[in-house]
Amino acid sequence: MKDDLRNAKYVIDLGPQPSLPIVGSELRFPVGRIYCVGRNYADHAREMGHDPDREPPFFFMKPANAVVQNGATIAYPVGTADCHHEIELVVAIGKGGRNIPVDKALEHVWGYGVGLDMTRRDLQGEAKKMGRPWEMGKSFDESAPMTALKAAAEIGHPAKGAIWLRINGEVRQSGDLAMQIWNVQEQIAYLSNLVTLCPGDLIMTGTPAGVGPVKKGDRLEGHVDGVGDLSITYAA
Ligand code: MN
Repeated sequence: MKDDLRNAKYVIDLGPQPSLPIVGSELRFPVGRIYCVGRNYADHAREMGHDPDREPPFFFMKPANAVVQNGATIAYPVGTADCHHEIELVVAIGKGGRNIPVDKALEHVWGYGVGLDMTRRDLQGEAKKMGRPWEMGKSFDESAPMTALKAAAEIGHPAKGAIWLRINGEVRQSGDLAMQIWNVQEQIAYLSNLVTLCPGDLIMTGTPAGVGPVKKGDRLEGHVDGVGDLSITYAA
């Protein structure tokens, strides 16, 4: 059945497979699902009013077609008056699996990128208050700008290094990957006990403190040492 489905013909056209470029290659990385880790830096957990003492990691998702290519100018999102930036390290899964042990987890990583977990904070806050799902705060059009990916085979697995975000040249978020409460291998191990990870899945690994609103006309520049530089502009 799987082989039949590979050559299936469809009644409507979905358009191109969401994907990201790869640094130094003509090939692209196909994006499957996007998992995001919540409150993974203690200083950000505290600014959101939570105690960061290693409660188990928790996850939410964005659709693959929320990906925005590096350098794009995008419209301020609909449905919000308080859209926030969250700069994050992105992990690209190359090999799927489930119940992956921590000491084997990095074998499943194809590479890394830099991403923004854009958040309609007002809608998320309302959802929290009402005990409702976060989706409409997190999973919306153009909510996941990302850089091209770099292969782990070339850069290794960054466990420390600066992560920052500037708006119009001014530093708003600044941290270090070493400040993650759950490191990449722990995130993969934990998530793979809840779902079967698939090639093409991305994990957005959480954001350091300093999240805040963006405005029309803002230029966002994000950086992770050794991984990449992201630049996104909100149309005036
Ligand atoms: Mn986030």
